[in-house]
Amino acid sequence: MKLSDSIQNLKGIGEKTSTLFGKVGVFSLWDLLLYIPRDFVINPEIRTASSLLEAKEGELAAVRLTVQGVPSLIHVRRLSILNAFGSDETGSVKLSWYNQPYLKKTLQPGSTRVFLGKVKFNRGTVSLEHPKMFRLDEYEKQKGILHPVYPLTHGLTSKGIEKAVKGAFDAVTPISDFLTKEELDKLDLQDLETSLRTVHSPASPERMTKARKRLAFNEYLSFLLSIRRMKTENAASHNDFHMTEADETNKLIGSLPYKLTGAQTRAFQDVINDVGGERAMNRLVQGDVGSGKTIVALLAMLTAAANGYQSAMMAPTEVLASQHAEKIRGLFEEYGINYDVELLTGSLTAKEKREAKKRIESGEARIVIGTHALIQEDVVFQNLALVVTDEQHRFGVNQRQVLADKTINKKVPHVLVMSATPIPRTLAIILYGDLDISVMDELPAARLPIKNAVVGIEYRKKAYNFILKQVQEGHQAYVICPQVEESEMVEGENVTDYSAKLKEIYGDTVRVAMLHGKMKPKEKNEIMRQFSEHEIDVLVSTTVIEVGVDVPNSTVMMIEDAQKFGLAALHQIRGRVGRGKAQSYCIFVNTAGGEEDNKRLKVLSSTNDGFKIASEDLKLRGPGDLFGIRQSGVMDFKIADIYNDADMLKAASAFVHDISKEAEERLMVYEADTGRITL
Ligand code: ADP
Ligand code: MG
Repeated sequence: MKLSDSIQNLKGIGEKTSTLFGKVGVFSLWDLLLYIPRDFVINPEIRTASSLLEAKEGELAAVRLTVQGVPSLIHVRRLSILNAFGSDETGSVKLSWYNQPYLKKTLQPGSTRVFLGKVKFNRGTVSLEHPKMFRLDEYEKQKGILHPVYPLTHGLTSKGIEKAVKGAFDAVTPISDFLTKEELDKLDLQDLETSLRTVHSPASPERMTKARKRLAFNEYLSFLLSIRRMKTENAASHNDFHMTEADETNKLIGSLPYKLTGAQTRAFQDVINDVGGERAMNRLVQGDVGSGKTIVALLAMLTAAANGYQSAMMAPTEVLASQHAEKIRGLFEEYGINYDVELLTGSLTAKEKREAKKRIESGEARIVIGTHALIQEDVVFQNLALVVTDEQHRFGVNQRQVLADKTINKKVPHVLVMSATPIPRTLAIILYGDLDISVMDELPAARLPIKNAVVGIEYRKKAYNFILKQVQEGHQAYVICPQVEESEMVEGENVTDYSAKLKEIYGDTVRVAMLHGKMKPKEKNEIMRQFSEHEIDVLVSTTVIEVGVDVPNSTVMMIEDAQKFGLAALHQIRGRVGRGKAQSYCIFVNTAGGEEDNKRLKVLSSTNDGFKIASEDLKLRGPGDLFGIRQSGVMDFKIADIYNDADMLKAASAFVHDISKEAEERLMVYEADTGRITL
C-alpha cells in the first residue's frame, strides 16, 4: 500500500470507522501515522487495596484483587451498571463498569487479576471506575512502557487507534525518507520511519524528543516551502486594485466611542500606503490580545468597499466569524454605513449558502466574513480586492492564489494578516517570509490591568461567590476546563460535569451554559450569541473561546487545571477579559498544587506582555520539557512548538535557503506521491 491510500484499505476499518477518523482529519494512511498521541501514561506499580484510601480521587491505580462472589448487573434506564467486589489481604475494593454487561462472564468468582482504573470515593467506599483487567504476567510485561493517549472523537478509542496505527505501519513499511542519508547526518536528524514509530510508542522521553524534533522539522519545512512558493508568485504581483483613503473611514473613526491608539492609526496608515502603492499588499498586523486589531481590519475592508471592491475576512472558527459579522453589521447600522455584510460558514443550510453565494457573485455582498468555507465552497467573487485573515496562526500561504482563482477576473487580491502570536521579530521574519509587518505595541488607554490570582482547589468556593457577586453587579464570567467530558485515561476538569455542578450551586440566580468543540457549529454560535447578548451569565467552556472572542462585559476568567496549559495559551485565554472599562479578574486554579507550577503561573501575574510571557515560559520549562505535549500554544502547528523547536525552525529555514534543484524536485515528487510531506 501507499501512504496516500485511504485508511479503508486497512483490515478492520470499514465505512463507519473511517467516517469517525474523517472527523479528526484522518483520511489516508499518512494522516493516520501523523495522528500523534496527545499524551502518554505509564502503568503504575501494583499497590494494596488498603493503600487506595490514601489515593487521590481520580488517580490511576493498579491493584491485584480476587473477585468476591458473583458480580451484580443492574439496569437504570438505558444504562447498565456492573458492580463487583475484589479483595486482597489488606482490604476490598468496589469495581464498576458502565454499559459493559458482557464483562460479567470474565469476572469469575475467585479469579485473580490486576485491575487498573481511576480511584473514586463514594460514602466511604473506595471504587475503581472502568478498570482494565490484566493477568499478572501480562501487567508486569507492560511495566514502564509508555501507552499512547490519542486525541479522541466520540466512538474512537485510544486502543482502536493504536491498532489502526499498527496496521498502517504493517501496510506501508518500509517508509522511504525524502531526505537523503547525507542530509540527515548533516542536520543531525533521525530518519522518518524511526521517528514515526517512536512518536507512537516511545521507549523513553529522550527518544520521544528526538522523534518529535524530526517531525517538527518536517512541519516547518513544509510551511517554509509553501511560503517560498508564495514569495515567487508574489514577486510579480503588482497592484491590480488601487485604492485611495475614503471619507467613510474617517467618518467611522470620528464616531467610534473611543479614540484609536497611535499604534492602530499607524497600522491603518500602513495599509492605506500599501493599497495605494505599486505592489499588492502583503502585510502582517501583529498585536497582543486586546490591542484592537479588529477595527484596523474593518477600516481596511471599509476602504475596499468605498473604492467599489469586495473584501473577505477569514476567521479560524465559526464562533469568531459570526461574531465579527454581527459586530460589523452593528457598527454599520449605528453609523449609517450601507454596505452588505455577508456571512459564509459551513453550518449554513444549503439554501442559505446558495443565496449567500449569489450575493457574493453579483458583488452585492461587499464585505464577506467566513471560515475556511470561503475556500472550500465553490464561491465566485465579483471583484475581490482584499483578503483579511484573523487569528489564523498558520494562515494558508496559498490562500491568496486560491482566492484569486475564485474571482471572475482572476486578479490577485491584497492580503492583510492579523495575528496575536507573540513571537520575536526575528522568528516572525523567518515564518512569514516577505510579509511587511505592522507592530501594534500599544493597548487602549482606558483599560484597567487585569487582577490575577494563582490559587488551589480549596479556593473554589470563594471563587464561586466572587463570580456570583460580579454577576449580580451585571457582569459575566468564563470558566475554562481542559476537557469536554469525563475521560477514562486523562484526569482533569470537564465542561459537561462542571457546568452541571455550577447549575446546581447557583440554581436560578445565575444563568450557566456550556460551550465546547464537540458541539455542532450552529449550537456553538447560538450559545455565543446568547453570551454576547447577556442572556447567559457564566459560560463554562473549553479553550474554543481562546481566539478572538470579544464580550467586553465579561470581567471574570476562572481557569481550571491551569497548570496543564502553556503560559502563552493562558495569556490568550485571559485576553477574553479586561476588554471593557470595568475591573477584570483572572483566577488560575492549579489543581495539582505543585510549587513549580505555581511559580510558572505567577509569571502571568507579573506581566501582561505576551512576548515576555512566552519567553519566560520557555526558560522555566527548559527546552525538551515533557514531550513537548504541553506546548506554548503559540502558532497552531500540530507538532512543532515555536519556542521549544526554534532550533528546528532555524534548521529548516537554512535548509530551504540553500536547497538544491535536485532536493526540491525530490521533495515535490514525494509530496505528489504521499499527498504531502508533513502534517
Ligand atoms: P484583538 O486585538 O485582541 O483582536 P479586539 O479588536 O477584539 O482586540 O479589541 C478588543 C476590545 O477593545 C474590543 O471590545 C474593542 O471594541 C475595543 N477597542 C479597540 N480599540 C480600542 C481603543 N482604541 N480604545 C478603546 N477600546 C478599543
Ligand atoms: Mg482579534
